[in-house]
Parts: sequence; structure tokens; C-alpha cells
Amino acid sequence: MYTQEIVCPSCGNLAIVNVPDSGSATTPCKHCGKKIAIAVDEHGKVTRVYENKCFVATVCYGTPHAPEVEALRRFRDLYLMPYRAGRGIVQLYYRYSPRVAIYLERHPTLATLIRTLVLDPLSRFVAEDNNHAGRGT
Ligand SMILES: [Zn+2]
Repeated sequence: MYTQEIVCPSCGNLAIVNVPDSGSATTPCKHCGKKIAIAVDEHGKVTRVYENKCFVATVCYGTPHAPEVEALRRFRDLYLMPYRAGRGIVQLYYRYSPRVAIYLERHPTLATLIRTLVLDPLSRFVAEDNNHAGRGT
């Protein structure tokens, strides 16, 4: 474990984060309070900085600010977090996704496949659902 200065993906200020020997960690940014998530490779090197733990989506879209990543975040908050089973899925996702994300960075073709087959349909589903809700009110 050591500490490293990282540029916060939310506010752009330098924040000090704790870096574990491997795996992933989150530290709240001392400037904006948002969580900074990092993935660490097997040599203890920080390979990527994420916002709000959307590891896999960030790798697949190249940035945590893509509209699809926002939609997937909404999917998590609306359809998973209110339910016990859903929260279990989210916990599993957070436990394994840093490793999956590191793997996907080395296999961009697989990242594209997951984006096309899983993430794009999910984010479209959330977007359409929002439109229906908008018309209903
Ligand atoms: Zn910040």
C-alpha cells in the first residue's frame, strides 16, 4: 500500500489516494467529495482512474462522461439499487469489474463486443424508459 497523487476525474484537482498492492480502491476526493476509483495491476501500478466505479462501462466507452455511461448509472440506481437482489449484483460487479476492466483494456475487441451486445442495449432501454415516463407526466 502506498499513496499517489491522482487527478480527480470529477473536478480535475489533484487528490491523494491510497493505492493497494493489487485490485481496486476508492477514495473520496478532498476537493469535491466524489469517489475516485482506481484499478491497480499485478505490479501495483495504477492503470486507470475511474469515476463512480463504472469500471467496465468506462473502458468500453473510453470515458466516464459518455451519455451511455450516464444511462448505465441510472439503470443501476433505478433498477438494481432499490432491490436486495439488485444490490447483490452491483456488489458482485464492483468486486470483479476492476479485474474485468484491466482485462478488457488489453483486449479491445472484447470490449467492443460487450459494448455492442450488452451495454448499448441496456443504455437504450434506460433512455426509452425515461421517454415513456416523460410522456406520462
Ligand atoms: Zn474531485
